[in-house]
Amino acid sequence: MKNPKFGYARPTTLDEALDLLASSEDAKLLAGGQSLLPVLALRLGSPDLVVDIGRVPGLDEITLAADGSVAIGALVRHAEVEDSHTVAGYAPLVAAAMPWIGHRAIRNQGTTVGSIAHGDPAAEMPAVCLSTSAVMTAVSARGERSIPAADFFDGFLTTALEPDEILTKVTFPPWRTGDRGAVVEQARRHGDYALVGLSARVHVTDGVIDEAVLAFLSVASTPVRVAAAEESLIGSAPSTDAYALAAEVVSNNLTPGADVHATANYRKHLAGVLTKRALEQALMSEVAA
Ligand SMILES: Cc1cc2nc3c(=O)[nH]c(=O)nc-3n(C[C@H](O)[C@H](O)[C@H](O)COP(=O)(O)OP(=O)(O)OC[C@H]3O[C@@H](n4cnc5c(N)ncnc54)[C@H](O)[C@@H]3O)c2cc1C
Repeated sequence: MKNPKFGYARPTTLDEALDLLASSEDAKLLAGGQSLLPVLALRLGSPDLVVDIGRVPGLDEITLAADGSVAIGALVRHAEVEDSHTVAGYAPLVAAAMPWIGHRAIRNQGTTVGSIAHGDPAAEMPAVCLSTSAVMTAVSARGERSIPAADFFDGFLTTALEPDEILTKVTFPPWRTGDRGAVVEQARRHGDYALVGLSARVHVTDGVIDEAVLAFLSVASTPVRVAAAEESLIGSAPSTDAYALAAEVVSNNLTPGADVHATANYRKHLAGVLTKRALEQALMSEVAA
């Protein structure tokens, strides 16, 4: 289908972009266009103005802070994140998510922050943000604010961002000694959106799990954690029995929907299988030790 009619602006400063957003009734930001352009072409959205931030300076960097946290700017493409040694070394769950996002051609254009701002519950990065306690930096003409990932994803394609705000960067807290993690998913074909996916992070101290975060994608209108399964892992040594129990609790607690791709029961079962797989991958070295 053809795009609806819309105005187009390509600001060259952040302030100009913010003014354009503030002065329009119904403006939409354009970053990599890999989600917005399909939305327009399918007439699922019809903004009066598209504000292309592609020429705004200062948003295209991956920064490592002294404390080990990693910030990804709004114009950094998935492919740059995938290729970054900084991300691989200091934000390993972000790196682990990248190969699951569509195909490399999509990742060459799409931005990681755009994926987070878009808030698609079938996307990998929102779940990764939840499992790593990422912090969003949102800027508007009114100033800057930080939003923790736990408060950011409000509903299907809906986030805590106000219409006049730009998500300028997302910061991933330091990966600590004892942190382990994995991103796993199952799709019908490689590169498709996941039927179910999971970003898991556990922390181990002296051979015992003392923190666990299991953030699922494609099972609800936002990424979701399963607190009961996380709690079942706390205090356990990494073991196949502990993973099996967590998997059972996940399957019993999730209430995914059904669609043409999978029934609700299949998704529940898959979520349990993926829980075991993620924990095995994340804690492989602990069990072997
Ligand atoms: C064929 C195909 C397969 C794909 N498969 C996957 C997949 O498996 N997993 C996955 O996660 N994604 C997938 N994607 C989506 C891809 O990852 C997108 O690149 C990403 O979701 C959005 O990033 P973008 O830079 O393209 O954003 P855009 O399309 O430019 O924008 C998306 C939305 O976010 C808003 N936005 C963008 N940046 C900002 C910002 N900085 N501040 C505020 N709002 C902002 C826009 O206004 C728009 O509403 C796929 C896309 C395609 C076309």
